[in-house]
Amino acid sequence: MAPKWAIVVHGGAGVIERAHLKPEQEQAYRAAMAKVTEAGAEVLRSGGLALDACETAVRLLEDDPLFNAGRGAVFTAEGRNELDAAIMDGRTLAAGAVAGVTRARHPISLARAVMERSGHVMLIGQGADDFAADQNLELAEPFHFHTARRWRSLTNFLKAENLPIPPEPVGADRPDPALGLAHDEGKHGTVGVVALDIRGDVAAATSTGGTTGKRWGRVGDSPLIGAGTYASNAGCAVSATGTGEFFIRLTVARDISALVELKGMGLQQACDEVIQKRLTAMGGDGGVIAVAPDGQLAWSYNTSGMYRARAAEGQPLSVHIYKDEF
Ligand code: ASP
Repeated sequence: MAPKWAIVVHGGAGVIERAHLKPEQEQAYRAAMAKVTEAGAEVLRSGGLALDACETAVRLLEDDPLFNAGRGAVFTAEGRNELDAAIMDGRTLAAGAVAGVTRARHPISLARAVMERSGHVMLIGQGADDFAADQNLELAEPFHFHTARRWRSLTNFLKAENLPIPPEPVGADRPDPALGLAHDEGKHGTVGVVALDIRGDVAAATSTGGTTGKRWGRVGDSPLIGAGTYASNAGCAVSATGTGEFFIRLTVARDISALVELKGMGLQQACDEVIQKRLTAMGGDGGVIAVAPDGQLAWSYNTSGMYRARAAEGQPLSVHIYKDEF
């Protein structure tokens, strides 16, 4: 029987293989993914909105330094954390997004405030930070987002690119629980959640620091509605992670929803069509998670791993990292 509620969570895709993760590192990721998925599942189980389940789960991921979102975000070439996030309601097609923000502790909640209270869909940079303050959202000092691990990724990146290394920001040297963890190259860890609630409504949310060493105000796919984030009750809800420049040009999230809505494709088939065929043919890498109003769940990725988890009515919560975990 199709589940009445469901949630799928991702914590980034990339070259993630058993050889890269020590047992305790793997455990840390699995525990974090399980905790966050359960928090979202609890919202849905108790009759909450898909939108609330998405926001609840993404907020937890934004506070966890393991992931490239909120605290633990990667650094720009100038040594700043510039955060991107988007959220979308599949029932109404309402959407909110922010890019290049530096002050909201939870960029996903700022994106939701944009959706519900600004009259706009997307705000960027200083204006978005000002809106966060106007809305009395929780603000954080820049050092809140700093982790030594991501700083090390930045300096490695800048050295390899022959670019100047900016002075290390104040506060970056505080104890960093994620320091010893894998993926120091800093390419992974964008987070996303899709959910279906018992009313039959779907929603999607994505949050990221973008890519290590980004310059010139670069924005990836994550906060762009239709690229890294999309939700429609007529199709499905999708959150993406991967090389944003490819996901933008393929409008990955909207395309998957459109294949379901307009071509009547099954959810897994639609995700595979866009990720395994179109994205792969173009040379992009990454993956998506998706959920449809009829209870179908799917994920698809063309990398060696993707941090991912799912839970649904009548189905146990499960966490997966590597490709061979189906
Ligand atoms: N898609 C993100 C971006 O391009 C990065 C990622 O998901 O790893 O900003």
